[in-house]
Amino acid sequence: MSSEIKGDECTVQGGETAGPSAVEPQKKDLACILCGKKMFYEERFRVNVCLESEHGVLAYYGLDSCYFTSREDIGVRFAKEGRKFHMIEASVLEAIGVKP
Ligand SMILES: [Zn+2]
Repeated sequence: MSSEIKGDECTVQGGETAGPSAVEPQKKDLACILCGKKMFYEERFRVNVCLESEHGVLAYYGLDSCYFTSREDIGVRFAKEGRKFHMIEASVLEAIGVKP
């Protein structure tokens, strides 16, 4: 099993140091770009999440316009489409309360 896919560097940051005006309101009613269904919004981590089994777990961090996927084929697709993304382990998603 090869894991050569790497997304762009972007990190989810816990604390906001900038003033409130610098924080963009994140869309909570976001449609999944892979299946078109409404994504679940995780308030604590400010990520939109879709758990559709056809594409696996997909999370989207709107403040950084970055996607998170645990599926290599989805990562390949994002790379081809020029999207910003990170490959993450399914266990990481479980840590933020998402059950694959
Ligand atoms: Zn989806």
